[in-house]
Amino acid sequence: SETLLEVKNLKKYFQIKKDQTVKSVDDISFYIRKGETFGLVGESGSGKSTLGKTIVGLQAPSEGNIFYNQQDVGTLDSKKKKLVNKEMQIIFQDPHASLNPRMRVGDIIAEGIDAYKLAKGSERQNRIYELLEKVGLSPDHAKRYPHEFSGGQRQRIGIARALAVQPKFIVADEPISALDVSIQAQVINLLDDLKQQEGLTYLFIAHDLGMVKHISDRIGVMYLGKMMELCDSHELFKNPLHPYTQALLSAIPVANPKAVKRERIVLGGDPPSPVRPPKGCRFSTRCPHAMDICHGQAPEWKEVQKDHWTACHLYK
Ligand code: SF4
Ligand code: MG
Repeated sequence: SETLLEVKNLKKYFQIKKDQTVKSVDDISFYIRKGETFGLVGESGSGKSTLGKTIVGLQAPSEGNIFYNQQDVGTLDSKKKKLVNKEMQIIFQDPHASLNPRMRVGDIIAEGIDAYKLAKGSERQNRIYELLEKVGLSPDHAKRYPHEFSGGQRQRIGIARALAVQPKFIVADEPISALDVSIQAQVINLLDDLKQQEGLTYLFIAHDLGMVKHISDRIGVMYLGKMMELCDSHELFKNPLHPYTQALLSAIPVANPKAVKRERIVLGGDPPSPVRPPKGCRFSTRCPHAMDICHGQAPEWKEVQKDHWTACHLYK
C-alpha cells in the first residue's frame, strides 16, 4: 500500500532553561501507509503527543522532514501548506479542555469550516447537522454548550470538529484515556466506522499496548523521545524484540494464563527524566539485559527482520 505520511530524522527539542533542553522527539524515522491505523504507544513523557502535534503542523520540528503524499511539508508555500494542514486533523485526549466552554457546539464543530471558508449560511448549518449525526449526536445538540454533555459525548463533538474539514489523516491523541471504561469501546467503534466511511488514516496514540492491540495494523513503541520498536501489530505481540516492549507486554493480563506462558517483567524504577536521559541506550537504566556497550553507545534504529524495526544492541 502507498505511503501517506513519512517522517525522517524528526527532532523536536524544547529549551526549558538556558542549559536545559528536553529532547521530546529525538531523531525518529517511520512511515504510515494510506488507510492504516498506526498505533503509537509510550508512557507519559515519552514524546508521543509531541510527535503527533509536530506531524499535524501544530508546532514546527526542530530538525528533520515530514512528507505528506511524497511532498516535503517544510518546503511547501503557504497556500499548499494550508491545504496539507486541512487534510491532517487532531483529536485531543481531554475533550473537556479542548472545547471552548463559551461556544455553542455547532460553532465549535464549524471552526474548521469557518477558518477555511468551506460553507456559510444554511449550507454551513446543514453540514453541522450532518456531522452531529455522523458521530451519533442529534441536530438539536448544535445550540447547546459543551458542559451540557458527558465525557463520551464531548469526545464525539471533538471528532465531529476534526471531520468537518474532510481530513484524510487523523492523529487521535489518547482519545479514550479520559473516558469511562464503559464508553471507551463505543468511541473506538465510532472511530473505526468513520475510518471506513471516510477513507481515513489514523495515528492512534495510547499509553498502553492493550488499548491499541485490536485496532492497529502496525504499532510503534516510544520511550524517552526515541522509537524503540516498530512492526505489524500481530508480530509485535507474538515476537517482541525490544526489552522495553517485552516488559510492556508482560504487564498485559492474558485471558488464559495457562495457555500463554508469559512471565511478568518488572522494571526497576521510574522512567528517567527526559531532561537528563541516560547516556547510550535510553532504556539502559531499566533494562534487564543491559550490557556495557548499552551505557555508552546509543543503538541504531534498524530493520532487524523484514518490516520489523528496533533499536537495541542485542540485535546485530
Ligand atoms: Fe537493553 Fe541494551 Fe537493548 Fe538498550 S540496547 S534495550 S539497554 S539490551
Ligand atoms: Mg500525551
